Amino acid sequence: MRTDAGRPTFGNQYPMSKMQYPATNRRPFIIPIFLPHSGCPHQCVFCNQRAITGTSRKNPSPSAIRSQIVEFLKYRGNLRNLVEIAFFGGNFLGLKMDYIKALLSEAATFVQAGQADGIRFCTRPDTIDYRRLEMIKPYPVSTIELGVQSMDDHVLDLVMRGHTSADTKVAVALLKQHNYRIGLQMMVGLPGDSDETAHATVVKISNLQPDFVRIYPTVVLKNSLLAKWYQKGKYLPMSLESCVSLVKNLFLYFRAKNIPVIRMGLQASEDFDKGATIMAGPYHPAFGHLVHSKIFLDMAISAIDARISTDDIVSINVHPRSLSKIKGLKNGNIDFLKKRFKIRHLKIIPDSSMGEDKLSIE
Ligand code: SF4
Repeated sequence: MRTDAGRPTFGNQYPMSKMQYPATNRRPFIIPIFLPHSGCPHQCVFCNQRAITGTSRKNPSPSAIRSQIVEFLKYRGNLRNLVEIAFFGGNFLGLKMDYIKALLSEAATFVQAGQADGIRFCTRPDTIDYRRLEMIKPYPVSTIELGVQSMDDHVLDLVMRGHTSADTKVAVALLKQHNYRIGLQMMVGLPGDSDETAHATVVKISNLQPDFVRIYPTVVLKNSLLAKWYQKGKYLPMSLESCVSLVKNLFLYFRAKNIPVIRMGLQASEDFDKGATIMAGPYHPAFGHLVHSKIFLDMAISAIDARISTDDIVSINVHPRSLSKIKGLKNGNIDFLKKRFKIRHLKIIPDSSMGEDKLSIE
């Protein structure tokens, strides 16, 4: 194992400041290192990271991590995106300090060699404190994501998170003081959650002004406590339709506040798609696409409703990158609009002068 004495130092600042970070619109190329349930104080009601990450191995050695990073870098090819080495699937700052330092040291060598631009990790709000942030200060950590899940203390209590919304506020304030990019992850459809509490959570998260958010629907994962509650009839997951509709409204709120939503829905996986790990709940491999398609469908309905002409030939202009969103999954939006408005010919016209989140009707 590398020792601290041999660890490269980077000064007190991440080499690329937070202000420089958004210089490219390209998504970062993420090298994910999964540490399922590592550093967790207990298992939260809804969680089964081994099912989510598809990996059961715990605490890989720094040299195993080095091999994984080297392997992933081969896929980067000539992409010029930022490269971030990401530790996901557990509670990073809940790990033992020596292990945290060993992992960060290993990842940092790739930053020092110019093969990566930074490190990110996901951790619980109640693991953010001054002492731990001082400990990671010498390493090139760019982004820290917090599993907020909800800003409703009753919901947090029911799902046995073991922290409160106040912990999240304190954590975000500390991360801001240290100039990290902050990502906040929330869930919808948790036990005790409702459309109202989800909206209240979004308002509180927006007030914290994170750099980005992720929204995850609650699904019932096998071997979670939630699965037992579901089997006993103590928990009923949201339907896919109502979840898409709720997340659409949450997304629109964040968008109006200029807060990027970088993911909606769980990352698709073969196990999820085969139903091997999900017992019930609003899982869809293209959940985010469903949300965007619903937004475009709503816009098209309003625009067609408002038109003066009753012509049964309608053209919808959208940016080329929004074609799949207006069409919907398997052209579902097109079929819906034709039927609802008795349209004989519905043309979708790509128009690069349109904003990507806009449409116009002719
Ligand atoms: S939700 Fe986070 S803290 Fe809770 S068990 Fe899962 S990984 Fe650990």
